[in-house]
Amino acid sequence: MADPVAGPDAAAGPAGYDAIIIGAGISGMYQLHRLRELGMRVLVLEAGTGVGGTWYWNRYPGARFDSESYSYGYFFSKELLAEWDWTEHFSPQPETLRYLNHVADRFDLRRDIRFQSRVAAAHYQDATRDWDITVEDGSRFRARFLITAIGPLSAPTMPRIPGVETFQGEAYHTARWPHAPVSFAGKRVAVIGTGATGVQTIQEVAKTAGHLTVFQRTPNWCAPLHNSRIDADEMARIRARYPEIYQRCQETFACFMHTPDPRGTFEVSEDAREAFWEKLYAEPGFGIWQGNFRDMLTDRKANALVSDFVARKIRQRVKDPAVAEKLIPKNHGFGTRRVPLETRYYEVYNQDNVTLVDISETPIERITPTGIRTSGAEYAFDLIVYATGFDAVTGSFDRIDITGAGGKRLKDRWKQGPETYLGVMVDGFPNMMMLMGPHMALGNIPRSIEHNVEWVTDLMRHLRSRGVTRVEATPAGVTAWTDHVKSLGVGLLSNEVNSWMTGVNSNVDGKQVRIINRYSGSAPAYRAKCAEVAAGGYRDLALA
Ligand code: NAP
Repeated sequence: MADPVAGPDAAAGPAGYDAIIIGAGISGMYQLHRLRELGMRVLVLEAGTGVGGTWYWNRYPGARFDSESYSYGYFFSKELLAEWDWTEHFSPQPETLRYLNHVADRFDLRRDIRFQSRVAAAHYQDATRDWDITVEDGSRFRARFLITAIGPLSAPTMPRIPGVETFQGEAYHTARWPHAPVSFAGKRVAVIGTGATGVQTIQEVAKTAGHLTVFQRTPNWCAPLHNSRIDADEMARIRARYPEIYQRCQETFACFMHTPDPRGTFEVSEDAREAFWEKLYAEPGFGIWQGNFRDMLTDRKANALVSDFVARKIRQRVKDPAVAEKLIPKNHGFGTRRVPLETRYYEVYNQDNVTLVDISETPIERITPTGIRTSGAEYAFDLIVYATGFDAVTGSFDRIDITGAGGKRLKDRWKQGPETYLGVMVDGFPNMMMLMGPHMALGNIPRSIEHNVEWVTDLMRHLRSRGVTRVEATPAGVTAWTDHVKSLGVGLLSNEVNSWMTGVNSNVDGKQVRIINRYSGSAPAYRAKCAEVAAGGYRDLALA
C-alpha cells in the first residue's frame, strides 16, 4: 500500500514541493543548486545510493572521459574551479565520481536528495496543476514542477539472447557494475559489445584475464585517446587558462575543445590531407572526429577517404590481417557513429590471451549455464560482461509512467519519435521540463547541461515573478521545433546508420526504425534560439 503523499507540510501549499527533480547526476545536481538560489523548495529523487548519475552507475573497468577533463567539469563556480585538481587529461571514472561527490558536499546538495528512490510514475493533476510522483517503494510526492534529469544514456539494455538468466558464472552489465572490485585474473572472460563502453572495458580486461573472448557484432571506428597525467605545474597552467577554455567551448560546434576545420576535404592536396589526418591521429582527444574537415560527415567521398585513412591505421596496428579486416567497419563510415577513443585497443588483438569472435558471421544462439554458444562453437566462461548499451534518449522516459494533461501518456505521444519544444518541454505535459532530453544538443554534455539548467532556471524565475502556476509548450511551438530538428538532420551521414544516436536498439521492442532524437545543429545556434525565446518574454509558451 502506498504511503500518504509526502512532502513539506501544509505550509508549502497543495503542491508540496515547488519542484521535484528526477536524477542526481550532473544536470540534476546543478539544477537543484540553481533552484535553491531562487528560494524554491526542491527535492531530488535519485535511484542510486549516491550522486553522480552516469559516473555513479558506469563503474566498469577502464571507464573514463573522452572529453578533456578541464573542459568537462562545471564552470559555474569560480571557487570550484580554483580548488579542484584533475590528475589526468581524460579523467578515470573513480576520479570523476570523487569530483561529483565533492560538488555535492561543497554545495550541501545531499540534504535535498532522497536516494534509493527510483521514480516509477509521474502524473500531472489537471485540477491542482501539480505533479503526483510515485517512487518504486510506494512513497508519493507532490510538486508544482517536474524536472527530468534522467540522462540520455541511462536505461541499460541486456541483449535479447535466449538463456541470459541461466548462466551460472559472474555476469555484469557495464552500467550496473558492482561497487566491490571485480577480478579478472586467470578467468575466462567474455565481453559482448564493442561500442565506446566495450572498447574501454576490453582494453582493461585484456591486461589480466586468463583468456578474453570479444563478441563483436558491428566493429566501430576507434581512434587513439592519448591520455596523460597532469602534474601540479600543468594544472596551474590549465587553471590560468580556464576563462579561455570556457570561451572556446562556448564557441565550438558541439562544446568540445575541438571544432570542425573550415576547409573541405578536397580543398587541400592529398599530401596536406594525409599530414592533417596524421596530426589529428597523433593528438589527444576528439580532434580526429570533431576537428576534422567540415564536410567529413556530409560528403560521402570525403567520408570514404578519411575512413580509408583510419582503416590503414587499423591494418598497421593489428598483426593478423584477417582479424584486422574484422575490426574495420564495412557498413558505416568513420565518425557516423560515436567514435570510441582507445588506448592500445587494437593491439589487444595481438595478445595470445585475446580472441575476437565475429558474431555477424557466427551469431550467438544462446547463453548457456557454462558460457556462450554461437552457430560456430561453444565457449566456456567464468565471467560475462554485457557492454550492450542503452535504450537511449527516450528510453529513460519510457521506463517511467509519465502522464500529462488529461492523462495522456508520454510514451504514446513519442511512439513515432520524440516531439519537443527546444528539447525542454512538450505540449500536453504542463509544468514538466527536461534536462538533456530528446532534441537537445548533446556534444560535451556538461557544457550543454549548464546552459540547459540556466535556461530552465531563468524560466522559473520568470514564472515565479508573475505568479504563473501553469506553463506549457504550444502545439505550434513543438511542431516548429521538431521540424527544425528534423531538417537539421537532413544530409548527415550519421542519420543513415543504425546506432543509439538514431534511436535504434535491437534489444528493445519498437526501436528498430531510425528516428531523429538529437539536435544536430551547432550549440551556439541552439543557445541563440533559447536566448531569443527568453528575451521575447517566453511568448511561445502558454502561461497561465
Ligand atoms: P553502444 O555504443 O550502443 O554499443 C553497444 C554494443 O553492444 C554494440 O557493439 C552493439 O552491437 C552491441 N550489442 C547490443 N546488443 C547486442 C546483442 N543482442 N548481441 C550482440 N551485440 C549486441 O553502447 P555503449 O558502448 O555503452 O556506448 C553508448 C554511448 O555512451 C557512447 O556512444 C558514448 O556516447 C557514451 N559513452 C561515453 C564514454 C566516454 O565518454 N568515455 C564511454 C562509454 C560510453 P551493434 O553495434 O551491432 O548494435
